[in-house]
This record gives sequence, structure tokens and C-alpha cells, in this order.
Amino acid sequence: MIKVTKLDLSPLKTFGKTHYIAEITEKLEGEKVTLTGWVYRKREHGKLVFIILRDGTGTIQVTIHKDKVDERSFKDARKVSLESAVKLTGIVKRDPRAPGGVEIQATSFEIVSLAEPWPITKDAGKVFLLDMRHLHIRSFKVRTILYLRSEICRYMREFLHKKGFVEIHAPIIITAACEGGATLFPLKYFGRKAYLTQSAQLYEEAAITSLEKVYTIAPGFRSEKSRTRRHLTEFWMVECEIAFATHEDIMKLQEELVTYVCEKIVEEHEKELKEILNREFKPPTIPFERITYTEALDLLREKAGIELPWGEDFGAEAERELSKMFDQPFFVTHFPTVIRSFYHQPDPENPEVTLSSDLMAPEGYGELSSGGVRISDYDLLVKRIKEQNLPLESYSWYLDLRKYGIPPHAGFGIGIERLTAWICGLEHVRDTTLFPRTPSRVYP
Ligand code: AMP
Ligand code: MG
Repeated sequence: MIKVTKLDLSPLKTFGKTHYIAEITEKLEGEKVTLTGWVYRKREHGKLVFIILRDGTGTIQVTIHKDKVDERSFKDARKVSLESAVKLTGIVKRDPRAPGGVEIQATSFEIVSLAEPWPITKDAGKVFLLDMRHLHIRSFKVRTILYLRSEICRYMREFLHKKGFVEIHAPIIITAACEGGATLFPLKYFGRKAYLTQSAQLYEEAAITSLEKVYTIAPGFRSEKSRTRRHLTEFWMVECEIAFATHEDIMKLQEELVTYVCEKIVEEHEKELKEILNREFKPPTIPFERITYTEALDLLREKAGIELPWGEDFGAEAERELSKMFDQPFFVTHFPTVIRSFYHQPDPENPEVTLSSDLMAPEGYGELSSGGVRISDYDLLVKRIKEQNLPLESYSWYLDLRKYGIPPHAGFGIGIERLTAWICGLEHVRDTTLFPRTPSRVYP
């Protein structure tokens, strides 16, 4: 059941609706209400039609008795098919047998939009469900995930605004790669070359010299062929960037942000997590453990028998195994400079590694975020761009920031699909999206 009771939704009620289903409680016993929604279940029993009505907030049982409605209403009730849109008026009745303890005894019933026979059956396979995503999103499980994703974003915004962050919107059409050229999606731009953004970070770095603490919740696009359970070609991130911040500052901020979101989810939605998604979830406690990249390699060798040469990124398996060794989120810090993007600040005490970290989820979920200190020195940044064979001319505005008073700064990006998948206990990140985009899927 989606919670709307605390909000005043009355100005949004349309089509003659008097209540949302979530608002119908025993307190309304005996009152006449008008509801709109979709037929979720239906069963007939002589002079009675039972319908489970669904709206954006929940479900409720409705009984339509031949002797209590006019002829047209009863005809409509008998004719109505699953997932048809309907409107009905009725009296709220307490009924311990009804799911939810109350039901509606209809006084009138009307089909608003009749549905064809519903194509999704209980035994539908994964591929078919993805092809039918435009219809499947009505299922209880998908609705709950999409709703919790929305709540996760709401809590993130709530937290960041309390901390004085300003929300910005960076361009989606860009010319300079943030995460290397290989995964850029090119597009035609009036005779020029442009790309879809991989991350808002570079623009946020400009924004902090104006607004100091900024964040955005925005999509990133990566033309990655990796068919893992954790990769999409279009995904969303919350990205934060802070002027005058250190590596420690952004790790602390992520700890607080993730813990806040998890606590709010459990406080307000534990029931949905448990009952609909079958997920036992405990919010983490601060501080999160921190291990260096080098220590992570040792752990992998000792505990999982995985031998990785120093300077190689974790593959999917190593990341999963490492993540399984922890029961709450943890940071892996000081990644080698050779495997980090050009903007990462090398550690002045050991330039082989960067002042960067990935926040990892436990239980095999792996990376939730990447972050770190950005290079603020002009010459070092030029050197790193050249070393990574990136076109220097595309970065001239970004380099300019280094000539005009950019202070030391740091930031991070948390993947929203990854965070939602972990909180909801899902196997694949695509299940957290309305319409997933993968190398093999751009439809529906
Ligand atoms: P990055 O800067 O590449 O580490 O991206 C920041 C965060 O975005 C990662 O930690 C992931 O949570 C998320 N992310 C990155 N790439 C993808 C992808 N292809 N699909 C889903 N999430 C992603
Ligand atoms: Mg990363």
C-alpha cells in the first residue's frame, strides 16, 4: 500500500474521485465514496461480482450486487475485464473477511476503458515480461520497486537540501568525455560531433565555483557491452560535488547520506519491503569500514582464492566476492592511478594511487558509488589528459577552471539503480527501472 494519508491530495482528485484507496479506512464506515482505478482481480458468484480495485495507492475489495445497483452497472461489472479502467461509487463497509478489513459495496459501477484479455500470465518468462514492460509495470512487485525508487530519490534530496546543497541540471548533450572515450554514445549535432553525457561531474566542478555545494539527479549513458546484472546503457546517478572538500569529507557525506536513506526506507516502508519484496533489510550503522585497494587484493587472495595483479580493476566476480565478505557497506580507497579516470587526484604521498574510493554494498551487490578528490592543478591535469589520449581541445573550458581559482574539491556519484537494487534485494538493476536500456534492449 502506497502511503498518501499524510499528504493533502484533495486538489489532485480528478474524474469525480473522492478518495484514493489508501485513504479508505474503518473511520469512513458508512460513507459514500467514489473511486477510480483498474480491475486487479475479478470473481463472480451468482448475483454478486467481486472486484479487487487497484489505484496508484493500493487495492480494495468491491462487491457489486445485482439488487443494489442499476441494470447498466451490473451489466458493466459482469462484462469488465482485468486491467480495465473503471469508476464506481459505493458505501464503505467494515468486513473482516475482506483484505484490508474494509470493502466497498457498490451503488454504481461504470467501465471507463475496457481492456482486451490480459496477455501476461503467471508462467510468463523473463524476456516476455521485458517485452511487455509497458503492461507488466502494473504488477504489485514492479509498482513497489518503482515507488521505493521514488522514495529513495526523495530522501536523498531531503538530506542534501538539509545539508545546504543546491540542485543543478547539467547538459545531457556534451562534447568532452568524463569517463573515457570508449563508452561514449555519439550523436549527430548539426554537422558537429557530440555525445550523450556519461556523468555530470565536469559541469558540477564548474558549478561549485558559483554555488559551492551542488548535486544533481540525472541520467548517464555508457555504451558498454558488459552484460552484467549491474550495468545498463542508460542509468541514473545522484552526483555531489563540493568546493574545499577532502576525500575524508566526501566519504563521511556518503556514509551519512546512504544511512539516512536506508533508515527512512525502513522507518516508512519496512512492510512493503518485507511483504511484497520479501526483503529483510537493516539500515547500516556509521562508520563504514575502509580498506585500501591493496588490502582488498589481499583479502581476495586470502579469503576467496582470487589472485589479481596490482593495478588491475576488480572484475565482476572479484567485486562480488569482496562484497560478500562484508555485512554492511564499506569503502575501498586509494585505487591505482592507472585504472582511474584522468581527473582523479594522485595521492601526494604516493602518486601510484589516487585519493579516491568506491562505496561498496554488502551481500555480493558490490559498487554503489565512485568518488574522490579531483585534480585542481592545471599542469597535472594537462599531463593526465594527454596520458589517457583524450583530445585536449575538448577540455579547454574544464582546464580554464584551473586558471581561475578552483579550490581543492571532491565529489562522488551514486548509482540509483544499484542503490535501489541493494535496498530492495533484487537480482538485476534493470528491475529498478521503468523501461531498462541494455545493449540488446531499446524497446519498449
Ligand atoms: P562511475 O563514476 O563510473 O564509477 O559511476 C558512478 C556510479 O554510477 C557507479 O558506482 C555505479 O553505481 C553507477 N554506474 C556506473 N555505470 C553504470 C552502468 N553502466 N549501469 C548502472 N549503473 C552504473
Ligand atoms: Mg566506478
